[in-house]
This record gives sequence, structure tokens and C-alpha cells, in this order.
Amino acid sequence: MKKRLLTGLQPSGELTIGNYCGGVKQVVKYQDEYETFLFVPDMHSITVPQDPETLHRRVREIVAMYLACGVSPEKCHIYIQSEIPEHANLSWILECHSYMGEMSRMTQFKAKSEGKKEIGCGLFTYPILMAADILLYSADVVPTGADQKQHVELARNLAQRFNKKYGETFVVPEPLIPTIGAKIRDLLDPTKKMSKSAENPKASVFLNDPEKAIRKKIMSAVTDSGESVVFDEENKPGVSNLLTIYASFANCSVQDAEKHFEGARYGDLKKEVADVLVAFLRELQEKYRAILASGAVDETLDKGRDEARAIAAPMYDKVRRLVGFGRV
Ligand code: ATP
Ligand code: MG
Repeated sequence: MKKRLLTGLQPSGELTIGNYCGGVKQVVKYQDEYETFLFVPDMHSITVPQDPETLHRRVREIVAMYLACGVSPEKCHIYIQSEIPEHANLSWILECHSYMGEMSRMTQFKAKSEGKKEIGCGLFTYPILMAADILLYSADVVPTGADQKQHVELARNLAQRFNKKYGETFVVPEPLIPTIGAKIRDLLDPTKKMSKSAENPKASVFLNDPEKAIRKKIMSAVTDSGESVVFDEENKPGVSNLLTIYASFANCSVQDAEKHFEGARYGDLKKEVADVLVAFLRELQEKYRAILASGAVDETLDKGRDEARAIAAPMYDKVRRLVGFGRV
């Protein structure tokens, strides 16, 4: 039997090239090797305020983008989180087995709540729902960018804790961090990661950006002092980020990219990064538009929902009985 891989990208904004490198590209790479679960975590996205109409639209768009990127509905189970009620049900049980101390250490919560007056409880408990997403399907591996590693660690801890108390129930998942592109950085502040929900759209290249916007954003990306194009994440995070983007989209190693730009100036680097992105995204966007206009999204989601439910429902039922719910 194939091992299982699971991942999801929130419909909380337009997908960025960071989401492509850390998320979708990994799925395309592994979909033959693993039984793959790719879901749309709409329940996660309301941990910060969302406009309902926009959320409806984005769920469809994100699935069309998965397909355009080469994710195969024949090989993968593609579904919407909120269409499978067992995610929320299991999340509650896991929440009752989680500790305030471990939850308070989550760096993403700290980053996302910083400076906010009113912080939703969902933002705090989000990693528990993510653990439920993973454990419900007995996923062996979870490909993520570096930002989600701590959350996968929580899923591991919860699985082990539950198994110890109630007997072997959950598979303990492993994170799968890509070697290149695990952390594409914000173009305006390369000390931060690029995020689709970042406030300033100039900080991210979106998969749906028109050519002009892509070029403008890359040309005005913040670089570092000095002149040489070298990969040095600590001292040259801006230049290193551009080299990483180049390597990810030109499909070469960062070392090869560094060699390619030996003696080049920052301006040359930016121009070539913009060129590879434009070439890649132009083709992707054509496919995306054709898929959105066809009935492929609904077909994919109906099939995926039924397949996911067939696995999630008996797993939840087992857990529910183990903790003592129901009439036996
Ligand atoms: P949000 O700002 O709403 O949290 P996000 O851009 O962080 O959006 P997520 O939906 O949280 O995206 O994550 C989707 C996937 O993309 C995950 O696998 C995550 O690890 C990966 N990812 C997110 N940002 C980056 C990044 N900058 N570089 C590489 N991978 C990333
Ligand atoms: Mg995120």
C-alpha cells in the first residue's frame, strides 16, 4: 500500500509563488509516489476575518489553480475541509487533549496576532484543527514550507499522546520540507516570509499577477548592501531570496543559480528572475482560465468529497468511541 501524503492551502488570499514552491509544487512532485490528500482549508481561513462572497470565489479558484499546476484529480483526493464535518469533530476532541503551554509557544500565532487588539480564539487553536486534518486520514507525510513545521510537530505530539492513552489509533506524521523554496521571502521585507494574506500586495508575486505587475514587483524588491550576487541568507536575505526564486522556477540548484549570476549586478539578477517567472506564470494562467471556465472544479470536488468522507467517517467514529462518546 502507498504511504499517504496530505497538505492544504488556505483560501485566505490569492496564491503566491511561495505557496507554489512550498505547497503545490511538492504535491505535483509526490502525487505518484504517495496516496495524496489535497484539501482546501476554508475553516482555517476564517481564523482571520473573511468576506463570504470572496471566500466562495476563492475556494473554486484555488482548486482550479491546483489543477492548472498539474495536480491530478485521478491521483489525488481533492476536497473542501468544511464539507467533511469530521474535521471539526475530531478537532474538538484533540483540543481537549492539548495544553495551553504548548499552544502558547506557536510562533505563527505570535506573528499573526502581533499588534492586533482583538485576537480570535480560532487563531490560537488553529494548529489543533490542522492536527485533526492530518490525523483523520492517517497521513504519513505532510509537505509544508518551513513555517508549518512547528504545527506538524504538534500533530505528532497529539497523536502520540492519544495513542498512549487509548491505544494505537493515529499514524504519527512526518513533515516533508522542500530543499529549495521552503521559505520564499517577502519582497519588501526579506526577514519575513512571503504570505498571501500580507497587507501590501507589492510584497508578494501572485500566481495570477499580470506580466507588468510581476516585473514591477521583482524590479523593486528590496536587496542588500554590497554588489555581488551571492547566496548568504543571513547577510544578504534579499539577494538570496531572488536566487532561491530563480532556482525554483528555472529548476536548478541554488549553487547553479549562483554560478549563473557570477559577476552580474543586482539589476541583471532581477531582470532574469522576472523573465523566468513571467514565462512560467503566463503558461500557468492560460491553463487556469480554461479550467475555471470548464466544469472540472465541481467534478473534482464532488469526487474528492466522497473519497475523503469514506476515510474520515470511520476514523472519527473509532475515536469518538474510544473517548467514551455515544451509547456504545
Ligand atoms: P496566510 O498568510 O493566509 O497564512 P500563507 O501564504 O502563509 O497564507 P498557507 O495557506 O498558510 O499560506 O500555507 C499554504 C502552504 O504554502 C503551506 O504548505 C505553507 O508551508 C506554504 N508556504 C506558505 N508561505 C510560504 C513561503 N513563503 N515559502 C514557501 N512555502 C510557503
Ligand atoms: Mg500561513
